[in-house]
Amino acid sequence: MTEFIDESPKLDFVRQIVAEDCKSGKWGGRVATRFPPEPNGYLHIGHAKSICLNYGIAAEFGGVCNLRFDDTNPEKEEQEYVDSIIADVAWLAGQQPDRIFFSSDYFQQMYDWAIALIKKGRAYVCDLSADEVRQTRGTLTQPGTPSPYRNRSIEENLDLFTRMKNGEFPDGLRTLRAKIDMAHPNLNMRDPIMYRILHAAHHRSGNKWCVYPMYDWAHGLEDSIEKITHSICTLEFENHRPLYDWFLDELEIYHPRQIEFARLNLTYTVMSKRKLLRLVQEKIVNGWDDPRMPTLCGLRRRGYCPQAIRNFCKVIGVNKFNSTVDLALLEHCLRDELNKTSPRVMAVLNPLKVVITNYPADKVEYMDAVNNPEDASAGVRKTPFSRELYIEQEDFMEEPVKNFFRLAPGREVRLRYAYFIKYENVVKDAAGKVVELHCTYDPATRGGDSPDGRKVKATLHWVSAKHAIKSEVRLYDNLFTKENPEDVPEGQDFTINLNPDSLKILENCFMEPCLANAGHLDRFQFERLGYFCVDPDSKKDRLVFNKTVGLKDTWAKQQQKQQG
Ligand code: ATP
Ligand code: MG
Repeated sequence: MTEFIDESPKLDFVRQIVAEDCKSGKWGGRVATRFPPEPNGYLHIGHAKSICLNYGIAAEFGGVCNLRFDDTNPEKEEQEYVDSIIADVAWLAGQQPDRIFFSSDYFQQMYDWAIALIKKGRAYVCDLSADEVRQTRGTLTQPGTPSPYRNRSIEENLDLFTRMKNGEFPDGLRTLRAKIDMAHPNLNMRDPIMYRILHAAHHRSGNKWCVYPMYDWAHGLEDSIEKITHSICTLEFENHRPLYDWFLDELEIYHPRQIEFARLNLTYTVMSKRKLLRLVQEKIVNGWDDPRMPTLCGLRRRGYCPQAIRNFCKVIGVNKFNSTVDLALLEHCLRDELNKTSPRVMAVLNPLKVVITNYPADKVEYMDAVNNPEDASAGVRKTPFSRELYIEQEDFMEEPVKNFFRLAPGREVRLRYAYFIKYENVVKDAAGKVVELHCTYDPATRGGDSPDGRKVKATLHWVSAKHAIKSEVRLYDNLFTKENPEDVPEGQDFTINLNPDSLKILENCFMEPCLANAGHLDRFQFERLGYFCVDPDSKKDRLVFNKTVGLKDTWAKQQQKQQG
């Protein structure tokens, strides 16, 4: 996964630890990381940070990174999610992940280790309900109350746990708990639950098991089985590290090092899978891959390229403090990439017909248009010009306001790659709405330059009406109106901050004919308008485009301002 290699000379704190360990030979020079998603939703941009970090470290230090499905919770997990996660990692990495593991494959080993802890007197079967366990846990200032079942004999515990596994008890009747310390200052150490009874079919192990391991118990064991060297997780797990260490030490098995980093938060975005699932289930968006979603498949459909996301992860870096990153920075990284790689074409989203009255009715000229000014190798294409054209409605004002330099009565403007045209008159419908413009062109200005040095103040994009492809364009705005969508009054939830105008559909847009053969997810810059890509909803005779991002770089602007 060499795409993830970060060549920046300064190592972040996680890479520093790995580098030191490699130097000291702590793991025999080995580096093994893992990316452990729970298959209960689609991956989002936050996961990308973790993927870039874990796969990046493995690639840079000559190690390996496992894609591990943390599928210990049968209720919310589905094959659909497993498939999407593999596809999204492959997309982001530019290659198929080759090391795929499932926590559920370790259920037997975990069970055996639970038996070992019981035999050691370090785990017991408890008959308190989940609620009672919570209530007797104590608080930060008060110790917990030991369970009345805490001192069951090893024999009784072995018997009860075996019967739990054999399905003799209903859901929730008993749990297996670690016997640590009910007065421990860290609440996670107060006899945490290791197993619960759950008669539910698992997407891989079927009905084989009716006891399922809890996250804290399972995770370190999974890392240990896979001989992970650095188990990198988000900051919330810092408080769980003593428990992670305790289980591995008590079992006296291979013991990776857990390192915590700050999770990614983005403005105008919710990232929790539970909330994203709600958006999908309540049909607030059109599925996980809706181009407004922060999911990787949503970003892909929106027109993001993996390189832009990897660059973004590089730019934000890795640290120990939770913060919120400006969405404008992600878009800046995207634009940077698209600018280098996207062919330019002309497209008119809100068409206004222009008739060039002094241009012959059946004449067609093919104008040279540059495909990408940033990339000479992209070459030049021929774009047809004829008597009837479309321009943007907003490029004409019958009564121009101050600072409007585009087409208006008495004005001359340049049509990009074509000619200067001059306003003659306007045609209106019965309601007084402008429906057509009549202009004349100057044949001496072919290519867009005037031989007499005459200047115009505006250059407009256009398409030839009879050659244009009619298509649909979907414009997007942020899904939420608030920087922090979770900032809501008591008793309300994040959905009150949804942006009602996040999707706008334009049905009658006109594109240059060179787009006729564009394929799904092909990306373009529509001159003066922004970056767009072909949506998979496109049909052979009806292309649909998504607006990926506009041209204006608010992030770069802000930076310039700050630097004075
Ligand atoms: P949620 O709380 O929404 O369910 P999660 O963190 O539980 O998300 P997992 O599928 O368990 O989701 O995440 C897999 C990995 O991705 C974890 O190692 C986690 O640390 C990492 N991860 C998840 N969200 C972020 C984020 N916002 N920033 C960085 N890493 C993240
Ligand atoms: Mg999780």
